[in-house]
Formats: sequence, C-alpha cells, structure tokens
Amino acid sequence: MFKRQTLIVWLTLVAITVMPFSALAQTQIKYHSNKYSVQDDIKLGRQAAQEAESQFPLLRDETVRSYVEGVGHRLVSSIPSEFQHPEFQYYFKVVNARDINAFALPGGPMYVNRGMIEAARTEGEMAGVMAHEISHVALRHGTAQATKGQKYSILGGIAGIAGTILGGPGVGQLAQAPFGVYLLKFSREYETEADILGAQIMARAGYDPRDLANMFQTIERQGGGGGGFLSDHPSASDRYARINREAQSLQVNNAAYRDSRDFARIQERLRGYGSAPSMADIARSGQRYPQGEQTGNVPNNLPTGRVSYPSNRYQNVSIFNGGVNLSVPSNWRQINEGNSVWFVPEGAYGQYNGQAVYTHGASFGVAQTNSRNLQSGTQELINNFAQGNNNLRTSGGYQRSSLDGRNALVATLTNVNEATNRPEIIRLITTQLRNGQLFYMVAVTPQNERGFETAFDQILRSIRIND
Ligand SMILES: [Zn+2]
Repeated sequence: MFKRQTLIVWLTLVAITVMPFSALAQTQIKYHSNKYSVQDDIKLGRQAAQEAESQFPLLRDETVRSYVEGVGHRLVSSIPSEFQHPEFQYYFKVVNARDINAFALPGGPMYVNRGMIEAARTEGEMAGVMAHEISHVALRHGTAQATKGQKYSILGGIAGIAGTILGGPGVGQLAQAPFGVYLLKFSREYETEADILGAQIMARAGYDPRDLANMFQTIERQGGGGGGFLSDHPSASDRYARINREAQSLQVNNAAYRDSRDFARIQERLRGYGSAPSMADIARSGQRYPQGEQTGNVPNNLPTGRVSYPSNRYQNVSIFNGGVNLSVPSNWRQINEGNSVWFVPEGAYGQYNGQAVYTHGASFGVAQTNSRNLQSGTQELINNFAQGNNNLRTSGGYQRSSLDGRNALVATLTNVNEATNRPEIIRLITTQLRNGQLFYMVAVTPQNERGFETAFDQILRSIRIND
C-alpha cells in the first residue's frame, strides 16, 4: 500500500512524463480575425437573449436549472486562459422543448433544451454539447463570421446567434423555422474548432472528452433531432472520429468523482413533467407558454385575478410520473406544489403571506387516509383542508359520480380566498386507487364567475388512471 507522500510523488512523476507528449499532440486553436470588440459580442448577445426569451418557453424548475448551471460553470472555468474573457457573463437556462438542441449567444447566454438533457445518456454527454457551445462563444465565432461578411445579421429579428450543437436549420428549413430565431449556420471549420476546444475543455473540467463524440451516436440512436441535426456538415461520423482522435492527446484532468445518480435524478424529474412540446408545436401555438408541462415556481406576488377563459384547445399532460394522464386547456400552465399539481391560467396564482394561492384552476393530488371507505376518506381529506382555513365550508352533501369508470364522490365547498377576499366555489372529486389511497381533483373559481364549468367537466372526463 502506498503511503500518501509516496503516492503524490509517483503521480507527479507520471504527470511530468506524460505531459510533454500531450502538449505536443493537442491541437492548437487560434482566434479568427474579428473587427468587432468584445463589448460588441456582449451587446449582441444581450439583445439576442432578450429576443430568445420572449419566444422560447423556459422551464421554470430551479432544481434543474441550477444543476445545468453547475455543469456549465465547471466547464466555463476550464476554458483555456487565452480564450477566457472576464467580461463575458455565461449563464444557463433550460428551454422546455423536446428537440435535442442547445444554443449559445455571443458573450455567454446559453439555452439548453430539455430534450437534450433527456436524450443524453450521461452527464458527460450533456456537458459535451455545452462545452461545444461554450467554445463557439469563447472563440467569438459569431462576430468572427460577421467579420467575414457572412450571414450574421438580423435573420427573422434576432442578431447573432452563436450556433447550435450541430448547426442551425438548413437553408430549406429556414422558411418553416418555428421561431423568429433563426440559428446561424457556422462553417465546417468553426464547427470543428468548437468540437476540438470543446473536447479540451471537457478534459480540463474532468469529463471524458469522448462523451462529446458519443452524444452524436446518442442523437442518431434517437432518430436525430429537429433542425437538420445529422445532415449538417461536417458529418456526425467525421466529427465523432475527429473528437476521438483529439481525445487521445488529452488527459482527463483530475477526473472528479461524479455521482451519476445526480444526472439520473434530474432526468427522472423531467420525465415527471410528461413530454415536452417540440419547437414546431410551440411555434404553431403562437404562445410563449403553450404547454401544461411548463411548470413554475409561484411568483412572489398576489394573483391578479384577471384571467382568460379556458382555451377550447386541449393538451395532453401526464402527472405523478405517468400515473395519471389527462387533458387541460392549452392556455393553462402546470405548477407542481408539494405533492399536488395545479393547472392554472395566467393571473390566477401568486403568493400571499408566503403561501401559494390560486383563484382559478384545477389541482390534483393523492392522499393517504386512515379509512378505506371512499366517503369517510373524503371527509378526512376535507377536514384536512379545513385545518387552518376557517372560511372553508361544506355546502350540501356528497353526490355520487364516476371518474375513469370508478366510483367517485363530488363535494361542493365554499371558501373566501385569503388573497383576494372573494368568495369562491371549490368542487372536490375523489376516487380510490387500488392501493387504497385517495386520488382527488379540486376545481376552484370565484363564486360569481362563469365559463369554467365546461373546462372542468372536460378535464374530469379526460382523466385516465394507471395504477
Ligand atoms: Zn456548433
């Protein structure tokens, strides 16, 4: 067994012996000529980020976002010093879209699609895509390309996108590109550079650079992605080979212990949201937040109470890890709160005294009750709701109903909303799961507001329980 001191000496010797060879073999990358200033990159990126965020639905999940940010910052701090720009502000956001994609903007803003995180087999594969994007930014490819007089300027309203992992949509696709955001297609040379620097950054950050190459296979296995992924140049197989060749000259720096369960947990969390919309879906719907999968933190303000009528269009959503499928109006968004899931229109939710409050919408939950009898279990649930809520009253008894072919009970309750002080009507529908737990839906609206009944009925009819 080594003594600690001996081990360190031994490791140092190995490092000294191996390093010169690595240093020689590693591909040297240089900046291209660029007539723009670093400040121009920052300014362009900032404008583009604003535009992008007005069009892309961001996933409002702090756990996922901060996880991605953690990986991003590890990569950014591993950019070789000659390509570091202290002025750049790298930040990372997750777009709630199914397409396997990611893009970065000059100066540092970066957007990672949820589909990319879900498709990656390991954290390393996800990091590979991000390292490639970060490399475009660090090498200032957007403004370098503009210097050459190539297409960079405003395409569909957005200036200077630094690129996507495998290039943006091909020319033929531009006409039908889902967004005003048309991603810049880089030259073969720039893509190769971003792959090589990306591999170098990976190794410095403690990731196996071959994971970047593996991501191409993962994408291929998943049938490719939107945006002309695999038809782009250089071909995926050329890039795979080139990255692996570079990897042979790289030493993975101080391969940090990574808990692969972290990545698995994030993927699991994303799967809980059901399937994300595609970019094309988002564009068709013409809405910024078109999907119920869009989940959010509850904003720190009172609900405005100004709420649109439920859309006549419905979207399928899956909750409780696929245990329940249902449809909700397409203009409602999903908010996961503790053990329950809300679907609410804009303006109908907020915070009051540090508590989330809702004025319109439907929520779903599963409760463990002492009684296995539907009616007494439901009563327990109501008693539970009434705790700490002096205004909640039962109005009339229970009505028998059915939910996905099961016996169900409907109870009508009245309440005074603590945030708005308006009287409200709450309908509670319960049924039993096979394991004896109670599944429930709560539908809430202000007392004098009409126009939501049809939506609630439609939601109720759409519920399918897989227990
Ligand atoms: Zn690229």
